[in-house]
Amino acid sequence: MDIKKLKVLFTEEQIQSRIKELSDEMNAFYKGEEVYAICVLKGAVMFATDLVKNLNMPLKMEFIRLSSYNGGTTTSGKVNAVDISLPDLNGKNVLIIEDIVDTGLTAKFLLDFMNCNFHTKSTKFCSLLDKKIKRVTEVEPDYYGFEVDDKFLVGYGLDYDGYYRNLKYIGYSDKFPLE
Ligand code: 5GP
Repeated sequence: MDIKKLKVLFTEEQIQSRIKELSDEMNAFYKGEEVYAICVLKGAVMFATDLVKNLNMPLKMEFIRLSSYNGGTTTSGKVNAVDISLPDLNGKNVLIIEDIVDTGLTAKFLLDFMNCNFHTKSTKFCSLLDKKIKRVTEVEPDYYGFEVDDKFLVGYGLDYDGYYRNLKYIGYSDKFPLE
C-alpha cells in the first residue's frame, strides 16, 4: 500500500486549473440561471465539491450513489442504483457530475433515467476524466476535464478497493494492489 509506487498522471495544480476552466465555461453557459448539480457518489465527490465552489449561479447539490465496480479494476458491465432519490427536476437545469466515463454505461443509465423521469430545462453531463478508448455506448460528456488512456486510475475521489480517494492528485500503477 505504498503510495510512492503510484505514478502521477495529473497533479493537484493541473486538476484545479482545469476545474477553473470548466467552471468558467459553465458560468458562461448558465448565465446566472439556477442549477441542480448532481454528484455521482462516491467517485465524483472531490471533483463535484471543487467544481461547485467555482460556479456562481444559485445552485443546489444532490447526491446519488451508483456502483458498477466490485472492488477490482474492471467494470462489472452492470450499473447498480444504490440510491437514486432525487427531488422534482422538471423544468430545472441539471448538471450531472461524474469522476470518469469509461464504457459509458453509467452515463447512459443516468441520462436515460433523467429522460424517463423528468422534463428538465437542460441536462448536461460533466466528467473530470474521459477514457474514450473504452466506450461501448454512444454517450459523450458535454464537459470533461482530461482525456485519459486505458489505465486504472486512483486518487482525487477514484478508488481501488475503497482506498486512495483522499489523494489530491490522480495516479496510476500497472499493478493493484500496490505492494
Ligand atoms: P462506465 O460505466 O463508464 O464504464 O464506468 C464509470 C465508473 O467506473 C466510474 O464512475 C468509476 O467509478 C469506474 N471507473 C472507470 N474507470 C476507472 C478507473 O480508471 N479508476 C477507478 N478508480 N474507477 C474507474
